Amino acid sequence: MKLTKHFSERESVFSNKAIELKIKNIPNTEQRENIFYTANRLEAIRLFLGVALKIDSWFRSYLLNIAVGGVPTSYHAKGLAVDFVPVGMKLEEAFDLIKNSGLSFDQLILYKKKGFIHIGFRKKYSDERNQILYK
Ligand SMILES: [Zn+2]
Repeated sequence: MKLTKHFSERESVFSNKAIELKIKNIPNTEQRENIFYTANRLEAIRLFLGVALKIDSWFRSYLLNIAVGGVPTSYHAKGLAVDFVPVGMKLEEAFDLIKNSGLSFDQLILYKKKGFIHIGFRKKYSDERNQILYK
C-alpha cells in the first residue's frame, strides 16, 4: 500500500534484521499515523533534492530497535525517523543540501562510514531542534 506518491507501507516496515531474527515489525495505530506523517515530510525532502530516496531503515518495533542496537528513545521506534540513501547523488552533497535548505527537521545525522543519512521529525514543527550530527 502506498503511503504517499513515492513511499510505501512495505518499505516503512521492511528490515533484513527483523527477517533474520524473526521479529515482527508491525506498527500500532499511533506508530502507523507517525509513519504516514513521516512519509509526507520525506516527500518534501525528496522534492527538494530532486532524486529518489532509497530507504535503509524506517520503523523499528521496540524489539527490533533493541536488536539493531538502537537507543531506547530512538525515533525509529516511533516511526518518526528514517535512514536513507539518495539515489544518484553523493551522500555528503545531499546532506549539505538538506542542512542548508531551511527545511525543518529534528535531527539530521550523516553516517559516513555506514553510508546513509538519518533524518528525524517531530509531530510539531515548533518542537524540532534542527540538530546536525556527524557519526
Ligand atoms: Zn536512524
